[in-house]
Amino acid sequence: MEDIRDVLARHGFFFKKKYGQNFLTDANLLGAIVRDAGVDGETTVLEIGAGAGALTRALSAAAKRVLAYEIDASLQSVLAETLAGCENVEVAFGDFLRADLRALEAELGNYRVVANLPYYVTTPVMMRFLEEATRCLGVTVMVQEEVAARFTAQAGTPDYGAVTAAIALKGEARIMRKVPRTMFMPRPNVDSAVVRIDFQEGRIPVKSVTAYRAAVRCAFMGRRKTLENNLMNAFRLTREQAGQVLAEAGIADMVRGETLPPEQFARLADVLFLRGIVR
Ligand code: SAM
Repeated sequence: MEDIRDVLARHGFFFKKKYGQNFLTDANLLGAIVRDAGVDGETTVLEIGAGAGALTRALSAAAKRVLAYEIDASLQSVLAETLAGCENVEVAFGDFLRADLRALEAELGNYRVVANLPYYVTTPVMMRFLEEATRCLGVTVMVQEEVAARFTAQAGTPDYGAVTAAIALKGEARIMRKVPRTMFMPRPNVDSAVVRIDFQEGRIPVKSVTAYRAAVRCAFMGRRKTLENNLMNAFRLTREQAGQVLAEAGIADMVRGETLPPEQFARLADVLFLRGIVR
């Protein structure tokens, strides 16, 4: 097959930094990502950012069906060529962040997300799947190494944050492989990693997901402040009320929120919910 660089050049394509365009070309790596994602003949895949279609093609060979979003309409003719003969692939041109996820899920049924994510939309894309999706079985994404560290961080470490706690409610994030910057074209300034999260409903039981999210947001509002102070600010509680909430959740009153493992966020959320502080 013709080198992807030549295909892009023939179509007069130029890379757009604003879209986070760093393409993969190595067939071994592409195959490894498909395996990392656990894609097989039963899997419907939603890919965010088809680029020149290298990962899309590899997914197409293993999956039942692939729907790929791509924001850059100038890749239309490139993708028509690189995905020729991939009968189980559809490309939707547009901004995935504006896509109607509910309608998409009604159309796709259960699906897995596989993506070499453009760095500038990593967080909003992840939050869509963590907070809005109902038919997503899991996500396998290439992200910057430092982001992978945040996704998989342990409580109390500097990388631990709101996104770590949001992920924990859905599943365990695992780093499947590290990918050096030299594997991308053009070469970015950072290394990357493939992270896989399999979604398990009810992994950490909570009475209200809204309350869990509110508890997490509150804890990371002021990272250096005690959780008690953050509770007072976030929910307009007196020190005494905040102390009672913590006691009932079995959390020491001087702790900082960033030290709380997800299970303790869940306990805190349940108390906030049962006391009617968060609905
Ligand atoms: N999947 C290809 C690969 O692995 O070689 C391309 C990956 S590249 C890091 C990210 C791709 O996402 C780019 O082609 C970019 O144009 C596209 N993209 C960026 N923002 C997007 C968005 N909001 N919705 C859909 N695609 C987007």
